[in-house]
Amino acid sequence: MTARFARARYGEDNYLYLLVEGADAALVDPGDPEVALAVAAVHGVAPRWIIHTHGHPDHTGGSATLLARLGATVLGHGADAGWFAPDEDLAGRGELRLGGLSVRVHGAPGHTPGSVLLEWRGRLLTGDTLFWGGCGNCRNGGEPRRLAKSLLGVVGALDGALEVHPGHDYAEANLPFALELDPASVAASRRLEAVRAARRAGEEPPPSTLAEERASNPFLRLGTVDALVALRARRDGWTPR
Ligand SMILES: [Zn+2]
Repeated sequence: MTARFARARYGEDNYLYLLVEGADAALVDPGDPEVALAVAAVHGVAPRWIIHTHGHPDHTGGSATLLARLGATVLGHGADAGWFAPDEDLAGRGELRLGGLSVRVHGAPGHTPGSVLLEWRGRLLTGDTLFWGGCGNCRNGGEPRRLAKSLLGVVGALDGALEVHPGHDYAEANLPFALELDPASVAASRRLEAVRAARRAGEEPPPSTLAEERASNPFLRLGTVDALVALRARRDGWTPR
């Protein structure tokens, strides 16, 4: 059984993911069905599962087309069913067994009521809860206090060795904010340079680890819900100089 993993960009800055274990494959947040099918074709698989990190249409908008094309089962949290009603509810699921794929689900409400993190083979697919250098906003059905609790409690409890694979590439918008808060942050400037170097080379940014995020991401560097809520509000009103 060979495990394979792919990340693909669609739209401006969205990412979808493909998880493969032998002949079994799942797509995560395949917002663009054509990009998703192309990635699956490269890996020679027909995914039988679609997993949503949350319900927002830029993540779930491709799933109806993919359902018709692949006959896949859609798994998503019932609390986000107002955006997309899943075939299977991820609420309280813990470990998912999808053929040979074994995916751990961590409920992490805040960006939306039904946001989850997906852990698979040393990787953490964070949707719009945690980004490289930042976190999701709460403007579309979210709640800052719940997000803060998820970042402190759920993300805070996870292994620092996990690779972070977010739902958007906002690194070059987020890390300058981190550096404005803490101009001396070696971790944030190092990470921003790695992202910019990839861009110059025409490549996608490399994933960070959760340990690197804990060093460079201001939303993982605060210890209280109130401080995190205040930082989220400050980031909402911030524009790069
Ligand atoms: Zn979202």
